[in-house]
Amino acid sequence: MLLGCATMPPRLAPVGHASKVILISFDALTGDTVERLSAEHAFSNDGFEKMRREGTFARVVPVTPTQTSVTHVSMITGALPRVTGILGNNFHHQGAPVTQVASGFSMPIGAETIVEAARRQGKRVGVLAFPSFDATNDRRQGDWGLVYTRPVTKGSLVHLTRKDFVAAPDAGPCRASFSPPLRARIPWVLAVRGQGTSRDVDLWACDSTDDGTVNYDDTRVRIGDEDIPLDPQHWFPISARIEEGGESRLYGSWSKLLRLDPRLERVAVYFGSISRNDGYPAELTRAVDAAAGFNPGPPDLDAAKVWLATGDGLDPESFVEQVDRLAAFHSASTIAAMKTETFDLLLLYESIVDESQHQFLLTAPDQEYSTPSNRAAAAHVVRDAFAAADRGVATILAAVPPGTAMIVTGDHGMAPAVYDVRLNQLLIDWGLAQASKGALGPDSRWGAYGSGENVQLYRFAGTDDSAALIDRLQRLQGPDGTAVFERVERRTSADHPDAGDLLAYTHTRYVINMTLGDPFVKLVTYGQHGGLNLHHELHTAVFAVGPGVAHAHPAPVQQTKLARYIAELLGIEAPRNAE
Ligand SMILES: [Zn+2]
Repeated sequence: MLLGCATMPPRLAPVGHASKVILISFDALTGDTVERLSAEHAFSNDGFEKMRREGTFARVVPVTPTQTSVTHVSMITGALPRVTGILGNNFHHQGAPVTQVASGFSMPIGAETIVEAARRQGKRVGVLAFPSFDATNDRRQGDWGLVYTRPVTKGSLVHLTRKDFVAAPDAGPCRASFSPPLRARIPWVLAVRGQGTSRDVDLWACDSTDDGTVNYDDTRVRIGDEDIPLDPQHWFPISARIEEGGESRLYGSWSKLLRLDPRLERVAVYFGSISRNDGYPAELTRAVDAAAGFNPGPPDLDAAKVWLATGDGLDPESFVEQVDRLAAFHSASTIAAMKTETFDLLLLYESIVDESQHQFLLTAPDQEYSTPSNRAAAAHVVRDAFAAADRGVATILAAVPPGTAMIVTGDHGMAPAVYDVRLNQLLIDWGLAQASKGALGPDSRWGAYGSGENVQLYRFAGTDDSAALIDRLQRLQGPDGTAVFERVERRTSADHPDAGDLLAYTHTRYVINMTLGDPFVKLVTYGQHGGLNLHHELHTAVFAVGPGVAHAHPAPVQQTKLARYIAELLGIEAPRNAE
């Protein structure tokens, strides 16, 4: 085939049609990192590299602000935020009370999505945990799908000492114990909207060595009279069903024995968060539960922070094990869904590289807890997370039905950040806002709504003092004397009606926090995004392979071109507002 590198198309364009299209969005699939890891041969031959080798690859310039809800909606509508009305993960809806924050994940989308466009043209669409598709109304769901779910409990670290262990009445699961078998009981509590159940998780300490000393080297987990085997990394699952809305729902968690010393003075167990699958129709939930198990939930950033700060907590290796398990779950659940349901278009979302970089993009010496060993451990986590994403791509690519084109992209990249900026606290300190119940008060003249590196400031009352505020923001410096804002501008007539009076973007080392307190706090969630798309670290990438896909590596493409590209591959009209 001579179609290929000799004829570089100037834009992202197919050369034919596919009977089915799968779009996978890896949140924060940073273009720079993809290219660096590819150059370092960190990927398999069957995932990203296969797609690049056999299909289309380009860098993608996301829309501004480079924030998850904004970029996903622009990706699937082909329209800019000023058209979609999804202006930030946090912004403010005109006319709403000062105290009300509009979420980009739930506000109405002011443009047709590729899901709506495909369905109106008779195509069948599946949507797996894709942002904005929360199944709250017909516009926000496919013909079938899984809804993105958050855990119903947080993960926790349980520390035990010898006094937490009591003598057991028998050897229990300890086959032969040369010291008296001991047992510690940890409750596992599942409570959801008034429903719930609990389990007593017994951690047994056994002694497998006949060395004449009272010490312990072996641990067993038992619930009631059921032994729960530990995997080679000492993880174990706990699950339970509860009745909800006439359905029996499977909930579960993965926990890990982190540490066991012979004298049982420093035993540490990580109890994982509890999650479930939430699909429609119910039959899909059952199929995913059966094939992939309960949703393992996201890797635990809070427990990882404890490790970075103190060396206790969830170590990076365990965090990566969580990432790997979630990636494997996504592959297995996607394959189960493809077997259970038919589709012409399938949208799939994965969060693993986003979560891993949020917590572990620890690259700058002035970030909190930035020691050489922490930076080295962090770099491994990021690399492993991208490798897990690559394995997921390879697994799904190998399982897609014949005639399927697969597109893999991200919503934005990620940059290392150093400080949280509490801008509403500064507005209060400057006499422009007031506090009430620990948050921005209803009588504030100005309010700041944002997250990551973008914020919109709205003037609710009083004379127009925006020129003075622009001047303050432009002169604002952080604790290290560097400028906080990269750009502060007034809204124009081209902006969406919900846009702030002022639109501001921080330099990537600063991020906006809407809570009150110290104006500047060092971040322990290191990787951030949301700022201007001028930063190459905030760019992402697109890969495509399969029927109708060109073998081409075009110049960087705008994110708003993706919706039309998907439509062209499927041979349907693009969404109505698509560029
Ligand atoms: Zn994102």
